[in-house]
Amino acid sequence: MTRTVDQTHDPGLTSWVDSANRPEGDFPIQNLPFAVFRRAGSGERFRCGVAIGEQVLDLAALGAARPFEGLAARALSACAEPALNPLMELGGEAWRALRQGLSQVLREGSAHAAHAAGALVPQSHVELALPARIGDYTDFYTSIHHATAVGRLFRPDQPLLPNYKWVPIAYHGRTSSIGVSGQPVRRPHGQLKAPGAERPRLAPTERLDYELEVGVLIGAGNRAGEPIPLGQAEEHVFGLCLLNDWSARDVQAWEYQPLGPFLAKNFATTISPWVVTLEALAPFRSPWSRPSADPQPLPYLEGAEIRSAGAIDLALAVWLETAAMRARGVPAQRLSRSNFRDSYWSIAQMVAHHTVNGCNLRPGDLFGSGTQSGAGSGEAGSLLELTAGGRQPLELTGGETRTFLADGDRVILRGECQRQGFARIGFGEAAAIVLPAA
Ligand code: MN
Repeated sequence: MTRTVDQTHDPGLTSWVDSANRPEGDFPIQNLPFAVFRRAGSGERFRCGVAIGEQVLDLAALGAARPFEGLAARALSACAEPALNPLMELGGEAWRALRQGLSQVLREGSAHAAHAAGALVPQSHVELALPARIGDYTDFYTSIHHATAVGRLFRPDQPLLPNYKWVPIAYHGRTSSIGVSGQPVRRPHGQLKAPGAERPRLAPTERLDYELEVGVLIGAGNRAGEPIPLGQAEEHVFGLCLLNDWSARDVQAWEYQPLGPFLAKNFATTISPWVVTLEALAPFRSPWSRPSADPQPLPYLEGAEIRSAGAIDLALAVWLETAAMRARGVPAQRLSRSNFRDSYWSIAQMVAHHTVNGCNLRPGDLFGSGTQSGAGSGEAGSLLELTAGGRQPLELTGGETRTFLADGDRVILRGECQRQGFARIGFGEAAAIVLPAA
């Protein structure tokens, strides 16, 4: 693995930014995730920032004081741009040099503290944009528990198709409708065909669902015709975010054969604004394994690096806040939990497979992991699974029930990494409210 645990992960490190030292916070000095922001309502140019406690460190403002030299200085100057693409393009050595520099600037006792304090903006005062110009978006299907549960609903005779255990399955998604957390999602219209009906009708979806996914943002790309080998795959990955692949299940059921999802999924995708780097995730790696009774991967998808540390122990959760909960002042309710560690395919395998035919990836490309569901009944990453295809309504606090999402529902995805001997880091959230159909 190219990412190693170093002094930036030392759990004893503290920051001169007080809010970064609270153990329950998502953004301690060991995390340092990137986003694109400006002061809310200011009309300023967007630029890159790094989260520290409840503040954003403005990297364009920090860069003006030229605190670094060499590669770290080059990486910092790329952060004055209104997207992370220029930083992503510089590659892993530059990302690591910048992380080392930022960790030095933000730690207790830093000589740069006085200047950097002037470059802090409270997160409560900022507007966050998409972190990158996303050129292409590919959504994978890496949870075998999700694939089996959904397959059972759509095709009871053959839940898991025979290619699943050999191919990291994916479809090419739509980039134009990717939004950042906080942007509302409008209930889409589509062709719906009831089971006994003779013909479909055009109507607002009656089966609006979320999908709990991890987003993978590509850093440096590859040239067309030059596959990325598994052993180098993670060097092309900048970092991770949370991703909600909103889905209209009734539209999906009618349209998905023979070419896969189309209008059921291209109307909206929500991602979290903060990109947690693979450097920050180094302490939370886990072995990747494959049950011995299953086919083992073809050689281009197999390697010692993924066997020892190809998975990431990232705890995921979905929360729901209904309009009634908001009106009563009741907090959001957790619907399910799962862990990215249980994914059937690893990030490196997704990258190696995506490029094995020579397909070129570019900085800022986005992969979705596919819905992350665990083996247990409370670990399903979509309502489709949690309600057995809408047959078993969920009971919510306050007497409400849900099969699929109602207008006014706000869906919140959260993620966090915890391991004995390391500081807990969080992903913030990917949240959006459902608006009624137009
Ligand atoms: Mn999906």
